[in-house]
Amino acid sequence: MLTTAYIGIGSNIGDKKAACRRAIKLLGKAGRIVAASSFYCTEPVGYPDQEEFVNAVVELETPLSPPALLAQCHVIEDELGRSRLVRWGPRTIDLDILLYGEAVLNDAELTIPHPLMSARAFVLIPLAEIADEAVHPVCKETIAQLLHNLHDVHRVTLCDSPVDQP
Ligand code: ATP
Ligand code: CA
Ligand code: CA
Repeated sequence: MLTTAYIGIGSNIGDKKAACRRAIKLLGKAGRIVAASSFYCTEPVGYPDQEEFVNAVVELETPLSPPALLAQCHVIEDELGRSRLVRWGPRTIDLDILLYGEAVLNDAELTIPHPLMSARAFVLIPLAEIADEAVHPVCKETIAQLLHNLHDVHRVTLCDSPVDQP
């Protein structure tokens, strides 16, 4: 059985866009990439004294169970040289499972939907680009509605928009 999952991708060390591109390519081993959002340049949240991030979201049709998909995300993070020093701190790559079909999971290792997705512009803006009609299985609102009601002042801009040119 195949499930549609949405994976949030973030990088803020080194060649961030290249790291995101490599992560997307490697996620192709965990299923079929159905869609990928644009890349967004985003202001760090939670631990502000660090470089800005590049964030994106991909839609993945996967045969993997949620724990197997998380394990695969960790393999890709390791492959791209992520070290886990500070929560919300700098990282070459971060892969979060945002949605997994209609699943609601609250395990010690895995919470789905991702518990902070509804509060984060850097997640909802790229997610809305590829899945604005997807429904959050806990609050039963669409991604478009969640984004409409979001109060997050952190800057999120398309990476290739004029505001990001040097
Ligand atoms: P945040 O979760 O707030 O975005 P983070 O991505 O920096 O923070 P990590 O250090 O990457 O946090 O992850 C810590 C742990 O979170 C992971 O080892 C994993 O077990 C757990 N986790 C729980 N739910 C999820 C999920 N939906 N996607 C990815 N990891 C999750
Ligand atoms: Ca994260
Ligand atoms: Ca993570």
